[in-house]
Amino acid sequence: MTQKNQTVDAAIIGGGPVGSYTALQLAKRGIQTTVFEEHAQIGVPNHCAGHISIRSLKTMNLYPLPTGIVENTFRVANFYSPQGTKFTLHLNSPVTCALNRTYFDQMIADQAQKAGAEFALNSQVQSLNLQNGVTRGFMVQQTDGSNVQVNSKVVFDCEGISSRLLRQAGLTTLRPNGLVYAIETEIEGIQNVEMQGVEVYFGSGYAPGFYGWLIPRPDGTAKLGLATKQGNPRTYLNRLMTKHPVAKEQLTKAKITNMSYHAITLGGPISRNYTDGFLAIGDCASQVKPTTGGGVIFGLTAAKAAVEVAADAIRSGDVSAHALEAYQKRCKDLFNFDFQVMLRLRSFLNSLSDQKLDEMFRVVGKLGVDKALRNADEIDFQGKLLLSAASKPQMLAALGYFGLLYLTTNP
Ligand SMILES: Cc1cc2nc3c(=O)[nH]c(=O)nc-3n(C[C@H](O)[C@H](O)[C@H](O)COP(=O)(O)OP(=O)(O)OC[C@H]3O[C@@H](n4cnc5c(N)ncnc54)[C@H](O)[C@@H]3O)c2cc1C
Repeated sequence: MTQKNQTVDAAIIGGGPVGSYTALQLAKRGIQTTVFEEHAQIGVPNHCAGHISIRSLKTMNLYPLPTGIVENTFRVANFYSPQGTKFTLHLNSPVTCALNRTYFDQMIADQAQKAGAEFALNSQVQSLNLQNGVTRGFMVQQTDGSNVQVNSKVVFDCEGISSRLLRQAGLTTLRPNGLVYAIETEIEGIQNVEMQGVEVYFGSGYAPGFYGWLIPRPDGTAKLGLATKQGNPRTYLNRLMTKHPVAKEQLTKAKITNMSYHAITLGGPISRNYTDGFLAIGDCASQVKPTTGGGVIFGLTAAKAAVEVAADAIRSGDVSAHALEAYQKRCKDLFNFDFQVMLRLRSFLNSLSDQKLDEMFRVVGKLGVDKALRNADEIDFQGKLLLSAASKPQMLAALGYFGLLYLTTNP
């Protein structure tokens, strides 16, 4: 077996959106960067619904997107209680879009390459190279059987939820009780679905501990998925398609054409995301919204922060934990408030029985909460969204009602 050596300033584990965006930011700063991705192709296989906030993409300088990447845009969200009570949010203009995640990931990787980053595909990082607790690089195995010893000033761990290498770096890994197990499918033949809206289904019989989603495309195909805290997601999907009072009508002629399984981490960010010569970004650092499981925008936002800190550290020659600690501080400033709010919302939702959920849907509809949120365009930073909406009388009433519900559910 052959073994080669490679030395770079910045080595990235994983060519998902977060790894490629990190590479783009590093390369733009003139830092010699290589991304190591275990698969043969960027963006394949895909396991993500790709439902993303337009405003956040604009903040990342990623919107408008090239033709073919945006599959649909949405200004409506229909939420269904376990018994099928509907609460609709109509927004003034499209706020979210559904992306083809394969093309989106490939676009970011292309941008990174054009900026000077290199990509090593078919290259699985096996183990970190630690010297006295300091990460100096890692060992890569390529699909042809050869090994590469990579030496790097800073290792950026963007390996996604597997977070195997995070453990080797000595960092605490994702909270197991924060995981939900998702099934994501491609379907055709949907009916009675508004093309400008996403459908969201709640209920312990269909998606205990999370929810189900349907994200339509104008051609009558859609992404249909759900996640569950326990049990087999496929069994729950069958039940959603055949028993849910609304979904069964929309999906009676639907045919599944593709299916994948993947976990989602809802437990909030890991307690420490840096160590000597090492930074963890994206899903592997659990930078994912505990309410919706959306992780693309938070991962990209954290990537920017990581690169700002690491670029200075690489240039100054000090990549110690002390120098990299500023990344964690920036993440706290960026997200901490929103994560605290979303973690509470998640545990609140998880604590509600189906009966209480049904009641909540009826009350929220009557209070006119949709009117209070009509101008909302922020779906990622949900703590800030709640703060800005809380001044509206409908929202105040709803928050008061949620408080009561919380007290009666968690005495
Ligand atoms: C069913 C489902 C639906 C979702 N829907 C949405 C949504 O609508 N909106 C949203 O914002 N988020 C959504 N998410 C979450 C979103 O997919 C993730 O937050 C996002 O992909 C995280 O990006 P990442 O780059 O951190 O990790 P990933 O996208 O997982 O990329 C990690 C990459 O690292 C590679 N890798 C792993 N280990 C190694 C190794 N040892 N060596 C080399 N390469 C390695 C992997 O092959 C992969 O390419 C969803 C997730 C699931 C499971």
